[in-house]
Amino acid sequence: MDIARRLSSLVARKLPVRPVGLSNRAVASITFDDFPKSAWTLGGLILARHQIRGTYYTAGGFCGRTMDGITYYDESDLRGLLAAGHEIGCHGYSHQPTPWLATPVLVEDARRNAEFLRPFIGQAESYAFPFGAVSRRTKRFYTPRFASLRGVHPGVNQGRVDLSQLCTISLEARCFSERAVDAAIARIKAKGGWLVFHTHDVSETPSRFGTTPDQLDWTLARVKAAGIGFLPMREALKVALAA
Ligand SMILES: [Zn+2]
Repeated sequence: MDIARRLSSLVARKLPVRPVGLSNRAVASITFDDFPKSAWTLGGLILARHQIRGTYYTAGGFCGRTMDGITYYDESDLRGLLAAGHEIGCHGYSHQPTPWLATPVLVEDARRNAEFLRPFIGQAESYAFPFGAVSRRTKRFYTPRFASLRGVHPGVNQGRVDLSQLCTISLEARCFSERAVDAAIARIKAKGGWLVFHTHDVSETPSRFGTTPDQLDWTLARVKAAGIGFLPMREALKVALAA
């Protein structure tokens, strides 16, 4: 990312587009981006064991494909996870960093993904920025289209937050940290708020952007043991905003 893009991203993060005050109720969400098939076939099993429903941010262009050794979801996976009560969110169709795309291209990409998802869910309510890349323009573009927008900037969502760029705790192998998860849980337990996790594949040999089954299992158990319940993003949003 060049300096201009870094600066644009920094400015976008500092300037909320949809600022809201969260309640002091504690809630958590587990989210999978793109999403690799193992997020459902293996990740879904772990979620089921904990009786947790998650959010799968779906990039339509990845359906049925295998790239760089990672096999992605197919349409039967979408039907399966919906039947299990999980949420399908939008992650763009072409999975490009949105600040790189001119607004007419964003319009076409949003239309394509909406068309792809329509037979499964009608209209997606939750969106995650591919690569977490944002600009003020693209935050403004997606804000009226979805109830919440998630980035990948690390942090917990507490007090005054930007629903156009919710923070997450990454469970990706490249940065997974039990200490970071515990610190986030402690903050939410003390003052309430919305704890959002994100990852991609779930595997004993995960990609840099994925998580092992043990790491996912440990995290879910740890949050539950702290008395914090999990909900998909669209439902957690209502809890987080409830007075
Ligand atoms: Zn992605």
